[in-house]
Amino acid sequence: SLINGNSDSPVKLPTIKFTRLFINGEFVDSVSGKTFETIDPRTGEVIARVAEGDKEDVDLAVRAARQAFDDGPWPRMTGAARGRIMIKYADLIEEHIEELAALDAIDAGKLFSQGKAVDIPTVANLIRYYAGAADKIHGETLKMSRELQGYTLREPIGVAGHIIPWNFPSSMFFMMSAPALAAGCTMIVKPAEQTPLSALFYADLANKAGVPAGVLNVITGYGPTAGAAIASHMDVDKVCFTGSTEVGRKIMQAAATSNLKQVSLELGGKSPLLIFDDADVDKAADLALLGVLYNKANTLKCKGEICVAGSRVFVQEGIYDEFVKKLKEKAKDWVVGDPLDPRSRLGPQVDKQQFDKILSYIEHGKREGATLLTGGKPIGNKGYFIEPTVFTDVKEDMMIATDEIFGPVMSLMKFETIEEAIKKANNTKYGLAAGIVTKNLDVANTVSRSIRAGTIWINCYFAFDHDCSYGGYKMSGFGRHLGLEALHKFLQVKSVVTPIYNSPW
Ligand code: NAD
Repeated sequence: SLINGNSDSPVKLPTIKFTRLFINGEFVDSVSGKTFETIDPRTGEVIARVAEGDKEDVDLAVRAARQAFDDGPWPRMTGAARGRIMIKYADLIEEHIEELAALDAIDAGKLFSQGKAVDIPTVANLIRYYAGAADKIHGETLKMSRELQGYTLREPIGVAGHIIPWNFPSSMFFMMSAPALAAGCTMIVKPAEQTPLSALFYADLANKAGVPAGVLNVITGYGPTAGAAIASHMDVDKVCFTGSTEVGRKIMQAAATSNLKQVSLELGGKSPLLIFDDADVDKAADLALLGVLYNKANTLKCKGEICVAGSRVFVQEGIYDEFVKKLKEKAKDWVVGDPLDPRSRLGPQVDKQQFDKILSYIEHGKREGATLLTGGKPIGNKGYFIEPTVFTDVKEDMMIATDEIFGPVMSLMKFETIEEAIKKANNTKYGLAAGIVTKNLDVANTVSRSIRAGTIWINCYFAFDHDCSYGGYKMSGFGRHLGLEALHKFLQVKSVVTPIYNSPW
């Protein structure tokens, strides 16, 4: 039930300090003077009006980023010097943990307790991870086949454009910008229109940490205007997009018809969790709920709004009935409520559009003949709260089993053999992640090699780490977040060749 409205919230609401675009080291109004509303998903009410950036503003930001890249100190200073500034940036973020966690709570419906304990500290550590890598960027010495000496340099790709989604406003901001900063790139970040507030706060802290003007610009605004202007800009060298598969396609088209800028896409998913007969049913049921609701001590929490959600759960027939019983019991423990209240285990969905979309999928599931094991309804009469929902009797071709719902909705299905499990798991256009629950090493090894997805979690789920990259196979995109893979995304290789041994040339 909704345990708290928001009036007696124990956490102080943050003051909104920044609502304007951040270009070339300064907060400025949009060229048009237009603004848009950002809404509190706990109440549906307006939090603030934020500058609405469009093409002209993107042009100004790209010009600043271009100049900072072509003539500025950032790509020219040593990696160690960039790393020092980034570490200061991380320290400043840590000094503002509560304020940042509260901003994401009111803007995105993220749990405050979790933001404070996990999301924001993790972001600071992520920046430190890449700061530590900034002075370890090197190429190779080549074994040439003739009397030539050759080596490679890894150089920053130039001006990067980051277009980010609303589901993890802070984590996504830095998963995308921190490796680019370490590489020596300059950039324009466009946060999602639903969640612009923490991004502007991060722009201010970058400035205070000593990131030079023009290196990190933030343009708040809508996708088809500001986002599209970044994707089609002739002077952006790389566009890095995280969001829906549908928009990912548009980004690639825009890159192709403009300057053939490099593209990396982190898109949607419909990830499977496979639970085998030998699993501990109690633990497996916890893991399945975690996999779609993402709520566990020391992990991020997100009410199903996560691209890698294990939203298709396949259970082997021997334990199926027992598993269903356990899951039903355990789902009751999920308290949905105000994200500022420490008793809440799930917050509201991010906005009305998402809320309506999830409820319509639930209705569709019922109409198609799936059975509601638990949940299925909105909670309260304000804000965008939905009960954790589990469907049984799901057929593989039902929409609830094929489409990314991006909400607290799980589809439960049964399988008999390993081969059948693999086939069912791969029966999706997506390929972001998969989970396997078994004690049998042969099963774990066989299944992990057979599933076409970028991350496989064995006996765990959402086991993210700075050093472990993730990203898509198939229509979940290409390019990786996290790890050194993400750093290399912002570097390009230059070969340098010279004759040796006085060889004639
Ligand atoms: P979305 O694609 O609607 O929006 C993402 C971003 O793209 C926003 O900043 C939006 O303003 C911008 N955008 C929208 N239209 C655009 C256009 N025509 N040109 C340029 N930019 C445009 O996605 P969303 O609803 O914000 O996020 C949910 C989706 O993101 C889900 O599908 C989810 O799976 C995916 N996601 C993927 C990952 C990953 O790492 N693979 C992580 C988080 C979310």
